[in-house]
Amino acid sequence: MDFSQVTAGLSSNDTVERDFTPAAPGADHAPLVFDVIIAGCGPTGATLAAELRLHDVRVLVLEKETEPKSFVRIVGLHARSLELMAMRGLLDRVLEHGRRRPAGGFFAAIPKPAPENLDSAHAYLLGIPQPVIERLLEEHAIELGAQVRRGWTVTGFEQDDEGVTVELADGRRLRSRYLVGCDGGRSTVRKLLGVGFPGEPSRAETLMGEMEVGAPQEEIAARTAEVRESHQRFWLRPFGGGVYSVLVPAEGVGDRAEPPTLEDFKQRLRAVAGTDFGVHSPRWLSRFGDATRLAERYRVGRVLLAGDAAHIHPPIGGQGLNLGVQDAFNLGWKLAAQIRGWAPETLLDTYQAERHPVAEDVLDNTRAQTELLSTEPGPQAVRRLLTELMDFDEVNRHLIEKITAIGVRYDFGAGPDLLGRHLRDIEVKQGRLYDLLRHGRGLLLDRTERLTAGGWSDRVDHLADPTAALDVPCVLLRPDGHVAWVGDDQQDLDDHLSRWFGRPAD
Ligand SMILES: Cc1cc2nc3c(=O)[nH]c(=O)nc-3n(C[C@H](O)[C@H](O)[C@H](O)COP(=O)(O)OP(=O)(O)OC[C@H]3O[C@@H](n4cnc5c(N)ncnc54)[C@H](O)[C@@H]3O)c2cc1C
Repeated sequence: MDFSQVTAGLSSNDTVERDFTPAAPGADHAPLVFDVIIAGCGPTGATLAAELRLHDVRVLVLEKETEPKSFVRIVGLHARSLELMAMRGLLDRVLEHGRRRPAGGFFAAIPKPAPENLDSAHAYLLGIPQPVIERLLEEHAIELGAQVRRGWTVTGFEQDDEGVTVELADGRRLRSRYLVGCDGGRSTVRKLLGVGFPGEPSRAETLMGEMEVGAPQEEIAARTAEVRESHQRFWLRPFGGGVYSVLVPAEGVGDRAEPPTLEDFKQRLRAVAGTDFGVHSPRWLSRFGDATRLAERYRVGRVLLAGDAAHIHPPIGGQGLNLGVQDAFNLGWKLAAQIRGWAPETLLDTYQAERHPVAEDVLDNTRAQTELLSTEPGPQAVRRLLTELMDFDEVNRHLIEKITAIGVRYDFGAGPDLLGRHLRDIEVKQGRLYDLLRHGRGLLLDRTERLTAGGWSDRVDHLADPTAALDVPCVLLRPDGHVAWVGDDQQDLDDHLSRWFGRPAD
């Protein structure tokens, strides 16, 4: 598997010290201090915290690691995630730290360029080190007022009608109205909830790390090219200064539960390439598998799951982090609405109804891509056939819209094709459309100039005569940028405003 095509692409410690005191171990009643506690400050947790803060929700993020991740794996941000960052005014900051690459060639690493005119103003892939994107997201959340505590590990919780009591590793307890497990693939929150995580266990383990290499560059290049003819999960890639990124199948070495050692890398390099290339002085070493699993439920009462805590799959196509960030955008405004008291009764449950099928689809496409990367004759024949089919614009477009998530369409019932989809960042009279979504409110784009958001104007902005670029009379956008309604009738609009934004203000 060519992970370069597949996975293109510090955290400030407690900068906000405010006066809350967790209940001491053994105390009967912990104070209800937060609206939402998020377990885990990875990309999903940090994004969710920022989304909640847009609505003044009191949010605390608990992160078990005292320091940010040390591995500097490059991850790829796809078009839909870049769009969401543009919507919240974060994109320029993110672009400064990443490298743009063409959007095409990511499905099973089949090297086909993207078709013309993808439906996005951000139709490229941004390669960015994961610790950098995590830092930017965490800083953004903190700027908006989220509190982050590092070195605080969630070990237990109990929920009741009013809230959730969260227990930390040192026995202290905190109380909030909701708890969201954004604590990664081995999620403690998911396990404690007893939510099933069915799927396939890991079949192939891979070692990945960064280290210095003693062998001459020409020898490395020649040997790597030979090995890659039969091993897709293999590379030695120069970073400069004698430092290389090394990827090698892990079969047979080390204990999965323990971090890999340099000796594990040497052993596997010798087994696969016949030499260990004189590797030494590792910067970081990691190991990952290709398990595929999906949580049976995303919500049990006041406890929810998002990101890798809810779904895991092989990194092929570079979709995991993107999927988690998009979960957070879907959940944030709904949970905020619930806490602010204006959520329609079923709004919070639409989180699972919308996001579970999206994750199911990503899991399936990674299964398909994994098969297509097999070196067996059957899958190779299917790969050749698909490569031919991708010459058809529609096939290529369909696969790219899948990987980049710009093709996601939530099921909002019968309606025009635009309903449930994203709307690209178009030029409007006041500038760019996405700039108008910065505060996480709904938006009515009204070319009829006779409709109104009336009693919902505290939650929904109204833009009359926005632009000729919109070819329907009126569109209602949700805070996550998905089209919630298309039409030109005020009564129909009011019904949909109620559906998504609750009762109108008096
Ligand atoms: C080799 C490789 C390449 C990849 N490339 C890409 C790519 O190109 N694009 C892409 O989109 N994705 C990629 N991914 C996937 C991506 O890294 C993950 O999907 C992403 O990190 C998930 O984010 P998360 O916030 O949901 O979970 P995590 O990043 O796992 O974060 C969870 C956080 O919770 C913390 N935590 C855990 N337990 C507790 C607890 N009990 N209490 C408090 N805190 C806790 C953890 O310390 C961690 O900080 C790749 C993965 C691998 C292995």
